[in-house]
Amino acid sequence: MKIIAIGRNYADHAKELNNPLPSAPVFFMKPDTAIVKNNKPFFLPDFSEDIHHEVEIVLHLNRVGKNISEQFAHRYYTEIGIGIDFTARDLQNKCKDKGLPWEIAKAFDNSAPIGKFLPKEQFSDFNNINFRLDINGIAVQKGNTRDMIFSFDKLVSYVSRYVTLKMGDLLFTGTPAGVGPVKIGDRLQAYIEDECLLDFYVR
Ligand code: MG
Repeated sequence: MKIIAIGRNYADHAKELNNPLPSAPVFFMKPDTAIVKNNKPFFLPDFSEDIHHEVEIVLHLNRVGKNISEQFAHRYYTEIGIGIDFTARDLQNKCKDKGLPWEIAKAFDNSAPIGKFLPKEQFSDFNNINFRLDINGIAVQKGNTRDMIFSFDKLVSYVSRYVTLKMGDLLFTGTPAGVGPVKIGDRLQAYIEDECLLDFYVR
């Protein structure tokens, strides 16, 4: 399986990093070795001094698909969850300055903790899902999917033009404003609406 992650899908986050708003989705990938499950701790890597949290709604893809039309894109995901797109911001800034790919900043081991998934039927409107990240009990990122520049279906459709989607793939749909560094001892708790679906410590 693979993880596809969308960048700059919330205008307020693009703004906080001084990035222009995209006219088409920006995506990158993480390997399966990035996944952390079951609320296992995240160990700070030694190659970065500035690991940032990015809380994101995650789609669990359940069908093989290529060139999926936006109209039918909803058939390709069954579950919705939440995850963290950990980013080595110092390395990413160096990559950006040099016009290089972002992999060392985004695709490293354990950079994608994911929580429990919920059946999509549980949601009445995919464009009105509240989610947030608390660190040590304080809300640091709050988002609502209505603020996405590109909807879930638009993202699935767009990515599938370039990359075949397969059963078990994950799509991280972008982070709202409020990203920032994590440190050893922090407790991260990610919520969809009022349900905590991911709860782990930084070690
Ligand atoms: Mg992200």
